[in-house]
Amino acid sequence: MRLLLVEDDRMIAEPVLDTMRRAGYAIDWAQDGRSAELSLDNGVYDLVLLDLGLPKKDGIAVLRAYRDAGGAAPVIILTARDAVDERVRGLDTGADDYLVKPFDLDELSARVRALLRRRTGQKQPVYTHGELTLDPAAHEVTKDGELVPLVPREFALLRALIEAPKRVHTRAELEEKLYGWGEEIGSNAVEVHIHSLRRKIGAEQIVTVRGVGYRLRRVE
Ligand code: CA
Repeated sequence: MRLLLVEDDRMIAEPVLDTMRRAGYAIDWAQDGRSAELSLDNGVYDLVLLDLGLPKKDGIAVLRAYRDAGGAAPVIILTARDAVDERVRGLDTGADDYLVKPFDLDELSARVRALLRRRTGQKQPVYTHGELTLDPAAHEVTKDGELVPLVPREFALLRALIEAPKRVHTRAELEEKLYGWGEEIGSNAVEVHIHSLRRKIGAEQIVTVRGVGYRLRRVE
């Protein structure tokens, strides 16, 4: 899962980036309306957190252009407490939800999860694959009912695999899900995380498809 945060205020942006990364999402940060548009042109985002008062181009204009161009990712707008008009305009322009500043980071996380769940059409918020379960809300993985402690990137990796368990995921696709831009990626970063994940959940759980990528083992 890859998110975009559009926010010019560093004091608001940093805790959001930190919280989302710890929850296992890759997240990029655009600091003005123009660079938000450039980022959105890539079309790689699963969800957008959008401040409305932005330098260079305001958030409503960014949102309108994004929706007009067919951009379909859910958008949560971040607005000031007294800006009721702004909120209404944002929702009318195609935002899916809003949060009033200053917002609670746990509430933000819950809303992000809810929108992502709706987007993937997933009814049960817990993934199951054989003896494995992954609960995005609790940020927990179990094997045979036993808790398996994972670091955020292992968690993000398993999540990517378990969301589409029959697909072979290429290394490039997995890198995109694990890292935001500007983050240092070692040349074998995905292999390293696959290796540590296999140690924790069992090597047989993840199948290497030579020359292509990785998928979860087949389950009856
Ligand atoms: Ca602002």
